[in-house]
Amino acid sequence: MLSVVVPCFNEAETLVRLHDRITAEVAAAGETCELIYVDDGSSDDTLAILRKLAANDDRVRYVAFSRNFGKEAAMYAGLRHAVGDAVVIMDADLQHPPELISQLVAMWHTGIDQVVARRNRAGDPATRTFLSKAFYRLVNRWIEVRLVDGAGDFRLISRPVVDAILAMPEYNRFSKAMFAWVGFDVAYIEYQNVSRQGGATSWTFPKLVNYAMDGLLSFNNRPLRLAIYLGLFMSSIAVAYMLWIIGVSVVSGVDSPGYTTLLTAIVGLGGLQMIVVGVIGEYVGRIYYEVKRRPHFLLKEAHLPRAAMTEERE
Ligand code: UDP
Ligand code: MG
Repeated sequence: MLSVVVPCFNEAETLVRLHDRITAEVAAAGETCELIYVDDGSSDDTLAILRKLAANDDRVRYVAFSRNFGKEAAMYAGLRHAVGDAVVIMDADLQHPPELISQLVAMWHTGIDQVVARRNRAGDPATRTFLSKAFYRLVNRWIEVRLVDGAGDFRLISRPVVDAILAMPEYNRFSKAMFAWVGFDVAYIEYQNVSRQGGATSWTFPKLVNYAMDGLLSFNNRPLRLAIYLGLFMSSIAVAYMLWIIGVSVVSGVDSPGYTTLLTAIVGLGGLQMIVVGVIGEYVGRIYYEVKRRPHFLLKEAHLPRAAMTEERE
């Protein structure tokens, strides 16, 4: 059986169209399926529509969060509740064409565990394309897993991969890298970029910057290493400069006006220390969230009708 997981945040405009296209596609692919919609604390009619869909179609399951917990939490919830032998994760805004599902499934049947639908960037704003490319170049140099430009969350993952992902209980979830981290056989299929069909993206520029930061910070402690090297570098410069300045005062008397040098050094080092403290703070903050062991999401409503045997996998 195939599970289709769809995180939805204020997607009332596209949900019905999405549902029709997914069910048509899955039927064409000849798979039995369940559809798991996760309402991530939407403030529009998303939940009402989900209730209606569930009433008319017994393949529909949904869970609704008590508030907005973010897409990562929504995907996690979807995977938690999916019981299929493979799970397709896709967006609700029709940017992930449901018509690709049969290709994903076909690849999966050839024995591939992760089939990733990879979009090209046609029609994206030039600045965003540029920044994304720069991000991928940076991040791939930086972290040990390889992230592929255009490969987002739209993918099919087989049960072993789902279980591997679920076995990673971390609070700060950076799925893109987690999918890469678990490994298994991966195949890509390309599709033409589609723009959002209704509704609005919730990705503001600051959110994207924060996301990029997460990508750089959440997968290793290299920034901390960098801080050490930076400190060593600055210290050696300081020692060299100190020796030189002592030499100068010994040779040509003590009177050395150093106001500019002093101020530059203080301000520069102050800034550097702030940055390093900030990096450490980021990690401490992450530890803080992890040790609290808070749930990733809270449900206010769930509709998961299923035979008792499949109810909870773990
Ligand atoms: N989404 C979510 N919670 C959020 C933000 C987004 O579940 O807090 C869902 C949203 O409904 C959509 C998917 O995540 O199905 C991708 O969101 P969006 O289209 O805003 O992102 P983009 O396509 O611009 O990357
Ligand atoms: Mg979108």
